[in-house]
This record gives sequence, structure tokens and C-alpha cells, in this order.
Amino acid sequence: MGTNICLVGIGKIAVDQHVPAINVSDDWTLAATVSRAGTVDGVPSYTDFDQMLADRPDIPVISLCLPPVPRFDFAAKAIAASRHVMLEKPPGATLAEVHALQQMAADKGVSLFATWHSRAAKAVQPAKAWLADKTITSAHINWKEDVRKWHPGQDWVFEAGGMGVFDPGINALSIITEILPFEMRLKHATLEFPSNRDTPIAAKMQWADKVSGEFDWRQTGPQSWDITVETTAGTAEIKDGGTRFLIDGTEQDTGEIGEYPALYAQMNNLVKSNASDVDLRPMVHVADAFTLGKRTVTDAFEF
Ligand code: NAP
Repeated sequence: MGTNICLVGIGKIAVDQHVPAINVSDDWTLAATVSRAGTVDGVPSYTDFDQMLADRPDIPVISLCLPPVPRFDFAAKAIAASRHVMLEKPPGATLAEVHALQQMAADKGVSLFATWHSRAAKAVQPAKAWLADKTITSAHINWKEDVRKWHPGQDWVFEAGGMGVFDPGINALSIITEILPFEMRLKHATLEFPSNRDTPIAAKMQWADKVSGEFDWRQTGPQSWDITVETTAGTAEIKDGGTRFLIDGTEQDTGEIGEYPALYAQMNNLVKSNASDVDLRPMVHVADAFTLGKRTVTDAFEF
């Protein structure tokens, strides 16, 4: 029997990734869920988070799969109840609220893990190791997907705090901030907002040191989740969301373990060692793009 864990927010990502990753792991037992409508077959379900916390002192770890805006209140309550907390990406709606959670977790002596699932993809560490001693001449992110496929009917992504195309774009930022051997600094950004929405559907960014990026949520057909890094020793490509690593077009060996199993293994290590892991750099770049970015208006968007 693994450590009891409670999943909160039984929606798309909980069902697609969290439940299967927990079920295949010996480290964890899915002991309860909390969601207003969603449930998992065979697992005790609650609709009231306070009730679950009160009823289930046997559950020391809470994994929050809610969208970012409602997530803070759940995280704060879980920490106040001395539970370890795992946050889906992005870790919060604002940087300040994640800083607050870090302080609360430190004060309570519980673990806080701000997960970045794409950073756990199997090509990321091999790419980081290869780039560590290279001279990088430029880097480019090409992150283009179909919002209707990945967020069907999820209006929250276009509401304030939902981050728009930065919801997937932050995955690219979580990879590039991990693999580049220097810190990025945003210089320019252009954000395209649908005329009827509060968050952008596309963005272009230029950082210092010839690092650039394009995010777009209107790509149908094949999806693009690629980062190309030019170095004086050759071209590194981290493709398909961090699952493939190529040097000068030649496929390289990567790790075996999938993203969500890797995240739950890391959470197990953090809980066992009473440590936290909160790296906010991907979110800093999103905040900077909203701060510095030029706003343009494009066609209205409906799902
Ligand atoms: P989702 O399906 O829209 O939401 C997850 C669940 O959260 C919902 O089913 C809902 O469950 C609950 N919820 C939504 N709004 C709420 C609110 N205001 N208050 C309380 N509960 C609320 O979203 P998702 O796609 O799973 O995304 C959740 C998080 O995972 C996001 O941060 C996203 O960036 C991340 N993520 C998503 C994907 C993806 O492919 N979609 C991939 C990786 C990571 P109930 O109605 O049952 O309460």
C-alpha cells in the first residue's frame, strides 16, 4: 500500500494523466477525490474539500488538478491542515500567491511541489546535459496547437487568470528555462487577443541572447511543440513536447519514464525528504510577457 493521496478537480487532466499515474505507482494509493461533479470509479468521492480534510486525517498528500484561479484557496486550506501539496501547472494565478503558499508550507513543515509536467518529459534532462557546456548562438520555441482539441469548451482558459495561449506556452517555458545554461530576459512581446476574450490566443516573444518564441492556439492538423537550440557544436532539437532529442538531425537516447509518473515519483521523494520544489521562472516569463507585451486584437473566438 502506497501513501494515501487525494486528487482535487476531477476534469480532463486528472482523468487523462493523474489517475493512471497514481494507479501504476506502488508509492501511492488514490484514497479520495474532491470535485463538484467528477468522480473516479471505486474511489470515495467528496464534493466539499473541508469535509474531506476533516474526515480523512489518513490522507497526508493532496494533488490539486483544478484550473489556476480557484486553486489557491484549496492549497492554502490543505497546507493549513498540515497536508503536503502538489500543484498542477501553472502553479497559481499570480506569482504572489505562490510565494504565499511557499511561506505557508515552510511554516507548517510540509512539502509543496509546483509541478511542470513538460519539464519531466524524457528528452529534457539529456538535452540539458548536452547543452551545459555548449556555446549557444540562438534558440527558438515553436509551440502551436489546437485549443479546441486540448481544452474543449474550457472557457476558463480565455477568462482573466486562465493565461490563454500561455497555458500551453508555459510548458515550453518550463523546458527552455531548464535546458538553457543561462537565464532568459524578455525584451519584446506581442500578444494577440480575440476581440471577445480576455486572454491571448497567440504570442510572439523575443528574449535577450537571440532566444525567441511563437505560441499559437489556432493550429489544426499536426501540432508543433518544438524547441531548437543552435550552438557552435551543432543544432539541438527538443521535439514533440520534450519527448524527442535530436543533435544535427540524429535521434538521441532519452529516458524511459513518462511525465506524470516522473512527477509522482518526485513528489514521493519530496514528501520522504520533507523538501519542497517550487521554481517559478516559467511563470515569471509569462508575467513579463503580459507586462511588456504589445496587445493586438484578432478575430473573435468560439469553441
Ligand atoms: P478542467 O477539466 O476544465 O478542470 C478540472 C476540474 O476542476 C473540473 O473538471 C472541475 O471539476 C474543477 N473546477 C473547474 N473550475 C473550478 C472552480 N472554479 N472551482 C472549483 N473547481 C473547479 O481543466 P484541465 O484541463 O483538467 O486543467 C486543469 C489544470 O491542469 C490546468 O492548470 C491546466 O493548465 C493543467 N493541465 C491541463 C492539460 C490539458 O491537456 N487539458 C494538460 C496538462 C496540464 P468539478 O466540476 O467536478 O468540480
